Amino acid sequence: MPKPIYTDILIIGAGPVGLFTVFEAGLLKLRCHLVDALPQVGGQLTEIYPKKPIYDIPGYPSVLAGELVDKLEEQIAPFKPTYSLGQRAEKLERISGEELGRDSGVEGFRLTTSRGEVIEAPVVAIAGGLGSFEPRKPPLPNIQAFEDRGVDYIIRDPEVYRDKRILIAGGGDSALDWTIFLAEVAAEVTLIHRRTSFRGALDSVEKVHELAQAGKIKLTTEAQAIALEGSANEGLSGVRIKTKVEGERSIACDNFIPLFGLSPKLGPIGEWGLGIEKNAVVVNTRDYATSEAGIYAIGDINTYPGKLKLILCGFHEGTLMVQSAFKRIYPEQKLSFKYTTVQGQPTGFEG
Ligand SMILES: Cc1cc2nc3c(=O)[nH]c(=O)nc-3n(C[C@H](O)[C@H](O)[C@H](O)COP(=O)(O)OP(=O)(O)OC[C@H]3O[C@@H](n4cnc5c(N)ncnc54)[C@H](O)[C@@H]3O)c2cc1C
Repeated sequence: MPKPIYTDILIIGAGPVGLFTVFEAGLLKLRCHLVDALPQVGGQLTEIYPKKPIYDIPGYPSVLAGELVDKLEEQIAPFKPTYSLGQRAEKLERISGEELGRDSGVEGFRLTTSRGEVIEAPVVAIAGGLGSFEPRKPPLPNIQAFEDRGVDYIIRDPEVYRDKRILIAGGGDSALDWTIFLAEVAAEVTLIHRRTSFRGALDSVEKVHELAQAGKIKLTTEAQAIALEGSANEGLSGVRIKTKVEGERSIACDNFIPLFGLSPKLGPIGEWGLGIEKNAVVVNTRDYATSEAGIYAIGDINTYPGKLKLILCGFHEGTLMVQSAFKRIYPEQKLSFKYTTVQGQPTGFEG
């Protein structure tokens, strides 16, 4: 087993709720480690709507989702959260206080991620939103054999595509934004979309048409991929497409990137023996504890009578939850509540 990372609160999900919980925990001198399946923090805000304004965050008449995530990162920075990004929380086991190395005897948890990292903590806060985002894959024969061998569903590092021939498929913001971005990076970019109209932001649609007219990208609408060319050993060499106007043809490419969006799946969280209703984790409204002592669920992932899936509500849930977490971790200590105006600017943790 790799050397475990030890923390006070293990937060599964680095969306807005997981991030803000780091701040509230930090005020109580509790450290947090966050695990997220996505390669970046921010959850739905970063992944689905970074450029959309949000109007119901107290004190911000309007804030772009991406900016709110930046501000949350700035706010929690003094509390030095640590992260395991790009990896799914897979296996959760209960461990004894001794195994956890705590004198108080408080038992805890050991989490193993999809990349084999191990994190141990006396408290787990599930802030998994709609679940972990899994890419929607096109139904092409043998596509699994080409995954990471020319077929990618998420762009983690655009530099990988420098001077390569890229075929992108899709009609949403992600497909449009990456087409525009990669036009400057890749040797050749082709975008195919099964309709003539796009679902993405109007200015991105205009930009893609401008790039196509200027010959900087190739655009084929009313087209879809029907087969992958190449071999599992040698990797991808091209994609066979079917178009309404020209029939079938092949496009030679080094990478095929279908960007059809991500669909959330409750995934492993649903197998941890917690009370689940309608794909959400059942909690009480006193401290957002689940049916398992020491495991809490906050934000979009939980359900209780009157639940609203709003960022603001998740912030409240995280705030109450950490008070309860403190009592579990330090059963002997009295928690004295102080306003931040009284405490002064959070100094955070050293090192
Ligand atoms: C288009 C759109 C507009 C919206 N507008 C508003 C608005 O105006 N105001 C508002 O308040 N709310 C709005 N919402 C809702 C808001 O985005 C959610 O309430 C908020 O994102 C919930 O935050 P969260 O941290 O609970 O979950 P999320 O943002 O969903 O983050 C959860 C994270 O957990 C990760 N995760 C899940 N399972 C695992 C696992 N097993 N392992 C590792 N990681 C995992 C996911 O990858 C994800 O990053 C909007 C939502 C959408 C889609």
